[in-house]
Amino acid sequence: MTGFPDHLLKGYGSFMNGRYQAEEQRYRQLAREGQTPEVMVIACCDSRAAPETIFDTLPGEMFVVRNVANLVPPYQPDGDYHSTSAAIEFGVLGLKVKNVLVLGHGRCGGIKAALSPDAKPLEADDFIGKWMSLINPAAKAVAANGHMTNGERQTSLERISIRYSVANLRSFPYIAAREASGELQLHGAWFDISTGELWTLDPETGDFERP
Ligand SMILES: [Zn+2]
Repeated sequence: MTGFPDHLLKGYGSFMNGRYQAEEQRYRQLAREGQTPEVMVIACCDSRAAPETIFDTLPGEMFVVRNVANLVPPYQPDGDYHSTSAAIEFGVLGLKVKNVLVLGHGRCGGIKAALSPDAKPLEADDFIGKWMSLINPAAKAVAANGHMTNGERQTSLERISIRYSVANLRSFPYIAAREASGELQLHGAWFDISTGELWTLDPETGDFERP
């Protein structure tokens, strides 16, 4: 028997009876007046690292784009399809968010793939390999470090890639301008899915610290 997954319908039922009922006025107001989130989050597709859950946010509070390994590509206005850049453009120029956060996480499958480029791609055209090649130079350097364990290499590249993505945000001219004028702040954070710890990026040192 095929069909719409039953557990999703059950979940929707409890959402309507619980959260939607509790926040009905808020939903109606958001529908009437539109969304005005102050925070944009760039997070991973990973099912264990949903930013709305981690930050316990209300509807309308956070503008979220999720992709494999929460990467921000460099500003590249060409003829290609750039879904992450399109979302950034809408969040910053359309919604005028005041904060953009790159949220990485532990045990990231995309980062793991970047550290083992010889692993068999899932399909011949290998979109994941192409996407993760954004961080190839760092991945190669970290993979070659014989002093680190696999776990240390993984965490290191997860954090390096967050710094890389924050730096790439600044390659968007309107982001650099808004950051310089104080209208926009850029942030990075790393979420440890096994312990629930959140580590935030220190903008001065580039280190990750417990807030
Ligand atoms: Zn991930």
